[in-house]
Amino acid sequence: MSRRLLVLGWHNIDPTPFYPAAPGAGRRGFDRQLAAIDRLGTVVPLSEAIDTLAAGGSLPPRAVALTFDDGYADWVDAAVPALDRRGMHGTFFLVSDILSGRIGAWWEELADAFRRCTASRLEWAGRVHDLSTPVARRAAQDALKAELKLVDRATRVEAVAGIAERIAPPPPEGAPLFLDWAGAKALAATGHGIGSHTVTHPILAREDAATQRHELEESRHALETGLGRTVDLLAYPNGNAGDYDQQTMELARAAGYRAAVTTRPGLVGAHEPPFAMHRIVLTPLTDVGELFGKVARKSTGAARRVANRAIRTLTPTG
Ligand SMILES: [Zn+2]
Repeated sequence: MSRRLLVLGWHNIDPTPFYPAAPGAGRRGFDRQLAAIDRLGTVVPLSEAIDTLAAGGSLPPRAVALTFDDGYADWVDAAVPALDRRGMHGTFFLVSDILSGRIGAWWEELADAFRRCTASRLEWAGRVHDLSTPVARRAAQDALKAELKLVDRATRVEAVAGIAERIAPPPPEGAPLFLDWAGAKALAATGHGIGSHTVTHPILAREDAATQRHELEESRHALETGLGRTVDLLAYPNGNAGDYDQQTMELARAAGYRAAVTTRPGLVGAHEPPFAMHRIVLTPLTDVGELFGKVARKSTGAARRVANRAIRTLTPTG
């Protein structure tokens, strides 16, 4: 038995502007990954694993929890059926204002504008970006994406709309990339876990306390009311160190959550702070066998000593 948990995190299964791949590659890759996980680990529901670790109990050897962020539409027709075929449990983190259609996903909108780009240059925020070749466009997109992560949400949304308008024609109507409330209800009805990924997907630490409180409380309330399920798990948008801070963790606890996952890679230890759980993010094309090998190597020797030292200084979960 084990006191350690590997939390894996995906976004979409099918290709999107932000996560491009060959048609069909996502579903095939995801199914291959689940086969490897079946062979190499034991899938446990995230919520139960958190309870077990908090109570001082043991998890099965090589326990793995599967999570998904953002609310991509392919969860219902690709991710869930693939999980169900293998009897595996997933936890799905939803953004309530994306479900309501009030907002889009800025990272997908930016990527889509670059994919359909017809401009050869962009003057933006005092800089000129060359857009004349695919390599230059990629560099410009990456630079702008990095810059936009540093500003608050309102500024970011306005910037993405402004950039899109300058470099590409208006987007054509296509199949929706994200679930709406009906899709979220269908997802909830499958019995898989539901968690909050905030109201508008801001980078929480870049917002003031009142905004963070609203994002945490209102998303939980909207999901519980809309889906008739208890929602007490949170995934921080972006989720790297610096995207949430001590205040965010305290506000999350006060808002009624009992744990939150990050995107900081690593294993979750027995006494990990429940509001800073490590998680490894992958795409459907990631080699899971190699990933498990790396995790196993990292959980030995020096890394284990560091982890143990960290565990001793941490507050036990409660
Ligand atoms: Zn997200």
